Amino acid sequence: MNRPTPGKIVCVGRNYAAHARELGNEPPAQPMLFFKPPSAVIASGESIVIPSEAGRVDFEAEIALVIGKRARKVSAKDAYDIIAGITCANDVSARELQKTDGQWGRAKGYDTFCPMGQTIGSGFDWDNLEIVARLNGEVRQHGHVRDMLFPVPRLIEFISGVMTLEPGDVILTGTPEGVGPLVPGDRIEIEIPGVVAINNTVVGAES
Ligand code: ZN
Repeated sequence: MNRPTPGKIVCVGRNYAAHARELGNEPPAQPMLFFKPPSAVIASGESIVIPSEAGRVDFEAEIALVIGKRARKVSAKDAYDIIAGITCANDVSARELQKTDGQWGRAKGYDTFCPMGQTIGSGFDWDNLEIVARLNGEVRQHGHVRDMLFPVPRLIEFISGVMTLEPGDVILTGTPEGVGPLVPGDRIEIEIPGVVAINNTVVGAES
């Protein structure tokens, strides 16, 4: 098992136009960044725990980039050189808390809110990656990397222009349309077809 243990998880919000609109938002003019804490990471097979106070909690299937070397101010043309591999992730999000809190630290940061797969370093085609979410066996999201508002090289350039990226850091590249709520008993699978997949069940908090 080589699931990443990131120093930081940098997330990109609203990176697919259709998803921005499904939540009533305009696509952003620049990448919109936020963080998830490394303590939120769980592996495939572990359970997503829904806190009792969280309200609606959604799944978000995302392609994740795992950084391979220390990097700062990387140009788009060199972006792929600093990426060790890719995996899939679920940016689990407490949707109502996002709205009421204003800041997203709590809504995105609960323990278990970042299921993530193994890092795959080769054997895939950057231009044809897809990301799929299946809720209880039914396809709910199916996105393609070409539909990203800000493609991978541009994200690396933008983010590394803000903060130094370190080996093991992870970038979640945004979710396509089709997000929806999770409830205890659900089984949510996230897959980059032909590359990597994760499978997590959902439980309620015990207290
Ligand atoms: Zn997301």
